[in-house]
Amino acid sequence: MKNGVMLQGFEWELPADGRHWSFLKKQAKHFARMGITSLWLPPATKGSGGARDVGYGVYDLYDLGEFDQKGSVRTKYGTAREYRACVKALRAAGIQTLADTVLNHRLGADGTERTRAFPVNPENRLEIEPEAVDAEVYTRFTFPGRGGRYSDFTWDASCFTAVDWNGLDSRKSLWLLEGKRWAEDVDGEHGNYDYLMGADVDVSEPRVRRELNRWGRWYLVHTRVDGFRLDAVKHISAAFYRDWLKALRRASRREVYAVGEYWQPNVDCLLRYLDQVDHGMDLFDVPLHFHLREASSSGGAYDMRGLTRDTLTQRAPMCAVTFVDNHDTQPGQSLESWVEGWFKAAAYGLILLQKEGYPCVFWGDLFGIPSRGIGAVSELPELMRIRRWCAYGEETRAVDDSHIYGFVRGGDARVPGSGCVFLCTNAEGGVRRVEVGQDFAGQVFRCAIGGHEAVTVGPDGWADFAVADGGMSVYVPEETWKVRAWRVWASAKRGMRAALHGARVKLMG
Ligand code: CA
Repeated sequence: MKNGVMLQGFEWELPADGRHWSFLKKQAKHFARMGITSLWLPPATKGSGGARDVGYGVYDLYDLGEFDQKGSVRTKYGTAREYRACVKALRAAGIQTLADTVLNHRLGADGTERTRAFPVNPENRLEIEPEAVDAEVYTRFTFPGRGGRYSDFTWDASCFTAVDWNGLDSRKSLWLLEGKRWAEDVDGEHGNYDYLMGADVDVSEPRVRRELNRWGRWYLVHTRVDGFRLDAVKHISAAFYRDWLKALRRASRREVYAVGEYWQPNVDCLLRYLDQVDHGMDLFDVPLHFHLREASSSGGAYDMRGLTRDTLTQRAPMCAVTFVDNHDTQPGQSLESWVEGWFKAAAYGLILLQKEGYPCVFWGDLFGIPSRGIGAVSELPELMRIRRWCAYGEETRAVDDSHIYGFVRGGDARVPGSGCVFLCTNAEGGVRRVEVGQDFAGQVFRCAIGGHEAVTVGPDGWADFAVADGGMSVYVPEETWKVRAWRVWASAKRGMRAALHGARVKLMG
């Protein structure tokens, strides 16, 4: 019995030095010791930006850093050989690998085509001009650098729905290609949110569907990843991914884990999507992210009782992948909505110790974002250990208070020494009387994070637990504390982090 943790294995501003796959490979055992059980790898496919592309501007799905295309053989993260070696090392360390998969759009076409297209209002994609006009569009993908290796499929205008550039018209607009229509089972923002960027892939085209099914099978065999993180699913027909995953699981006779990125704070939209895909994938708990963000940035005004209200954690816990931040929400990125630093530890305490959800830890929080001078969340390694050893059993709400959120994990007999008490606040702290349960009567709980005195649970199963202003506390049974010798380990780790941080601050002057 073991609680899992997913690591998002990158942040947006990693150096484009081609060494990331090798680094992850070297760190595989270290990640496993930290309690990481799956690792979401950034897109391995060649993007239009070549060796500098983060991976979301996908050019060629079959070029994982193997062909001289877009100015280099390797991608931002390394070569195809290094990617496969990295997957292999992670697997050997007992860590599942998830491939970031971008099927919505293509960028960096090899050539243009003349066709006809309808101008569309980018703000309301249902406003389509009645007359088609001549257009020159970047939709010809022939991959001369790959020369047909792995697949001889080439792409032309018939494979795409729309583009945002017409070489014959200098307007900044959106162009629906003649004979095409928007998918209807997509997000409803902007009237219809099928189009995101680049050349929008038409997944209703049978040739395209066959090719993408084929690619999925190829990818599983070629790279041996365990599953997928599916990019931008709100811009792709829900029926497409429902069928794509079913076909892939049938063909590979494997479970093939999948989690989708549906960027939408309204939980009802996420629930509808889960129904549309027959619950064939998990989704990131985007509503929870926005609650955490709000709790961190509303100057104490946020009512903590609503922290998990109308989130996937609450409404579809079996399909919730919880997270605090990611490569898109980090400062400077397209969906910037960064959970503020002072609240980060509390936010991670919540997702790592609560019963529901599969937590995903962000690289930029675990290791910091040096390019922005953002340090690591120093409590994270300890929280991950507490998750692994203590966060078992039923969860009961311990505090019902507008500023303090807290719960007890009752422990599980199969994990000796398990159970914990979690408290966090977005404003004033204090001491709260909490029912830990009769099973813990007479037991001592140590404050593993928060720096408060140990408490002894009374014969009635109640005890007083403290949380500092704007802080968080985690208490664990003393038995666990002693066995794991946390204090020594944690303080050594803190010392090292402080030294590293100090050195970085000095370097940055
Ligand atoms: Ca689309």
